Amino acid sequence: MRERLYLFDTTLRDGAQTNGVDFTLADKLAISRMLDGLGLDYIEGGYPGANPTDTQFFSEPQKLKAAFTAFGMTRRPGRSASNDPGLAALLEAKAEAICFVAKSWDYHVRVALETTPEENLASIRDSVRAALAKGREVLLDCEHFFDGYKANPDYALACARTAYEAGARWVVLCDTNGGTLPHEVESIVAEVVKHIPGDRVGIHAHNDTEQAVANSFAAVRAGARQIQGTLNGLGERCGNANLTSIIPTLKLKPEFADRFEIGVSDEQLKTLVHVSREFDERLNRSSDRHAPYVGESAFATKAGIHASAIVKDPATYEHVAPEAVGNRRKVLVSVQAGRSNVLAELERIGIEVSKNDPRVTRLLEEVKEREAVGYAYEAAEASFELLARRTLGTVPKFFDVSYFDVKVEQRASNGHGGEILTTAVVKVKIGNDMLINAAEGNGPVNALDVALRKDLGKYQKYIDGLKLTDYRVRILNSGTEAVTRVLIESEDESGEHWTTVGVSANIIDASFQALMDSIIYKLVRSGAPG
Ligand SMILES: [Zn+2]
Repeated sequence: MRERLYLFDTTLRDGAQTNGVDFTLADKLAISRMLDGLGLDYIEGGYPGANPTDTQFFSEPQKLKAAFTAFGMTRRPGRSASNDPGLAALLEAKAEAICFVAKSWDYHVRVALETTPEENLASIRDSVRAALAKGREVLLDCEHFFDGYKANPDYALACARTAYEAGARWVVLCDTNGGTLPHEVESIVAEVVKHIPGDRVGIHAHNDTEQAVANSFAAVRAGARQIQGTLNGLGERCGNANLTSIIPTLKLKPEFADRFEIGVSDEQLKTLVHVSREFDERLNRSSDRHAPYVGESAFATKAGIHASAIVKDPATYEHVAPEAVGNRRKVLVSVQAGRSNVLAELERIGIEVSKNDPRVTRLLEEVKEREAVGYAYEAAEASFELLARRTLGTVPKFFDVSYFDVKVEQRASNGHGGEILTTAVVKVKIGNDMLINAAEGNGPVNALDVALRKDLGKYQKYIDGLKLTDYRVRILNSGTEAVTRVLIESEDESGEHWTTVGVSANIIDASFQALMDSIIYKLVRSGAPG
C-alpha cells in the first residue's frame, strides 16, 4: 500500500503575486479548470475580500473535483472572531476549504503584528474553530516557519500545534523568504512530525536559492504529506515550488513513485506539457525551452555520438521517457550533427529514406552550408522539415509571391513628434490567379505578415487558425558584414507550435523567409493540395 501524498496549488493566490501577472476573473476560471484537469487535490483561488476579482471568484461555488480553497488572515488581535469583517468575508466565501495564514516567528508577532505571542496563538485557535464551525476544511499556513523555528523553536512549534489541536486538517510550514536549504528543511520537519503527525503537515517553499523543489522533497522525506506549489513555478521574486517539475518526479522516480500515490493519473501526466504551455500562452510569455520535463529542449540531443545511441536505445541518454509527460524526443540537426541525427529527425517527421540514400548526404551538406551563413535549424525544426522535404522532392508548389512592398512613414501631428504608419502590399500568384493584398501593421514585419495572410485564395481556409506567437531577432557577425537571423514561432488552432528561420542582410527579407516557411509548413501539415 502506497501512502497518499496531496498536492495543493497556489498559482491563483501566491502565483498572482508575480511581477507583471494580473489575473482577470476569466483567467482564474480558465486556469482553475486547467489545474483541475491535471488532478490536483486543492486549488487555492485567491483572497476573497481583498480585491473585487477574488471576491467575485468566490461568490459562486466552483464545480471542481479539487477542493476549492479560499485564503485569508486569522482574526485580528484584540477582536473576537465574530467581530472581524475580514474573517467574516472569508467564512462567507463559497469554498470547501479555508487556508489561514498566521505568523509563527515571535519576532514578527511583536514587531509586525504588534501583539503578544499568546494573543497570536488565541487568534489561530479561534479562527480555525470558526471555519470548522462553518463546515470548512481548514489549513493553516505558518508564515516564516523555518526562520521562526531557528530563532525560537518552541514558539514556532506552539503555533503549529495550536492549529493542529484546534482541528486544522493541515498545518503548512512555509519558507516565506525562500532562503532555507534542503538539509535544514529536512531536519526541522523531522522535529515537527514528532509533535504533529506527518499526514497533517504540508510544505510551502519559495525558490530564492533555486531549491524550492528540493526543499519540498526534503520535507516529504522527513514526513510531510502535502506539497504546495504553482504551475511553472510562478510566484513573486524567484517563484514558488514548481509543481510542473514536482509532479513528474513524484510519478516517475521510484524513490517517490514506489512509496506514494498522488491524485494525478498516468493519463493526466501525459497532458503536462500541454497544460504548462497553455498556461504560458495565457500569461502571454514564451515558454522556458530548458524547463525540466516540459521544455522544448528537455529531451533534445545535439552531439552526433549521443544521437546514434539514442536511436538504438532511448534510455541511454534520457532519465525518463519524454512521452510520459507529453513531451517528445528531439534530435537536433546542426553543423556538429552527424548523419545519424539527420536520419533520426527524418524518421520522426515521417520521411522514409534508406540509410545510404545519397540525398541524405546532400541534405546534410545543405544544412551545413546554410548554418555557416547563419541559419539555425536546431531551433527551427519546421524550416528543417521543409528543407528536408524539398531536398527529397516532396513539397508542392502552393503559391508564389511575385512582389512585396513595405512602407514606413512618419506623419507629423500638430508639431508633436509624429505618428508612425506602416503599410505593406503583397502580390500573390496562385495558379493563374493574381491576388493583391494590402494591410496596415504596428511595424513592417507585422504589416507584411497581415498582408500575406489576408487572402491566400483557396489556401486561406488552411491558415485561418494560424497565428504568430513569438518573433526573435539576432544580429550575427559573419566576416565583415552583419546578417540578421529571424526566428518566428507560430501556432495553429490545434495548439501545435512550430518555429521557422530566415537569414538575410536585410531584416525584412529575413522575416519574410521565416513567415513564408511558417505558412508553407502549415499547408504541408494540413495536407493542402499543390
Ligand atoms: Zn508563499
